[in-house]
Amino acid sequence: MIPGSFAYHRPKSIAEAVALLADLGDQARPLAGGHSLIPMMKLRLAMPEHLVDLGRIAEIKGIRAEGGDIVIGAMTTQHELIVDAGLAGKLPILRETALAIADPQVRYVGTLGGNVANGDPGNDMPAVMLFLGATYHVAAKRGERRIAARDFYQGAYFTALEPGEMVTAIRIPVPPAGHGHAYEKLKRKIGDYATAAAAVILTLKQGRVATCSIGLTNVSETPLWAEEAAKIATGSTLDAATVKKAAAAAEAITSPAADNRGPAAYRKKMAGVMVARALARAQSRAA
Ligand SMILES: Cc1cc2nc3c(=O)[nH]c(=O)nc-3n(C[C@H](O)[C@H](O)[C@H](O)COP(=O)(O)OP(=O)(O)OC[C@H]3O[C@@H](n4cnc5c(N)ncnc54)[C@H](O)[C@@H]3O)c2cc1C
Repeated sequence: MIPGSFAYHRPKSIAEAVALLADLGDQARPLAGGHSLIPMMKLRLAMPEHLVDLGRIAEIKGIRAEGGDIVIGAMTTQHELIVDAGLAGKLPILRETALAIADPQVRYVGTLGGNVANGDPGNDMPAVMLFLGATYHVAAKRGERRIAARDFYQGAYFTALEPGEMVTAIRIPVPPAGHGHAYEKLKRKIGDYATAAAAVILTLKQGRVATCSIGLTNVSETPLWAEEAAKIATGSTLDAATVKKAAAAAEAITSPAADNRGPAAYRKKMAGVMVARALARAQSRAA
């Protein structure tokens, strides 16, 4: 339960951080809130020789509106997502999802950047980023690039980030005013990762679904964007037969592992149940 030894670095700017990450090579890891990395180090599942603490870099904190997008600094904490009034008005799904993460102690320190960069299929934010069409701003010593969340997740703990790169911000297009949203997470107890979870946003026009997007958490090696399920829901009044069909389409793309949250078949089924619940709640909230 004691991590291996490591050197600790605390840069004050993105330029300083990416220079350290480039110079120290693949033995260096960014440290954000530490609520995923430190437990992994204590279990010796991660043994970085250098930790580059991003906590002093002011330019990667905070939430701002930019055109039709919301741009959130990677070091913004999950707690800050919950209490930001502007965000609650424009992107209430982020508040609802952040509230489903762990407990207040974790959320005070855990960051959005750490949650999306970690690559753990159990993290709640990545599926939300997929279905909202978010983009990650990535910096390295050699320059900057942007990666669509939908191209970012390649396998459990494998992402499109290359050595020396760090996420600096998350850019999210603001969904239309009046949209309905819901994040439904089945968990065994407070603080648990999802047995299965589903995120939905939708808009209604004359009682029918005009637009719909659906994401799934912890039912595959990566977060999932359930495009087919959303297509089935679109154009409907979300009658029982359509919801059943959409839930089945979502289940069909899952491949959960059997673990102490239940057998694979149960977790697959629960993905569909979460989709049905999230569709109903999002519909009830849409203007
Ligand atoms: C008891 C407990 C329960 C939890 N339950 C949940 C839960 O239900 N849902 C959930 O989503 N999470 C849960 N978590 C995890 C928590 O949300 C973490 O805070 C989050 O996964 C990682 O964010 P962090 O800021 O702590 O990152 P860290 O732990 O510091 O980093 C995580 C990984 O991301 C990398 N990284 C961090 N920031 C960057 C960056 N800007 N650029 C590139 N790489 C970066 C690190 O190198 C590391 O590999 C739980 C944690 C605990 C301890």
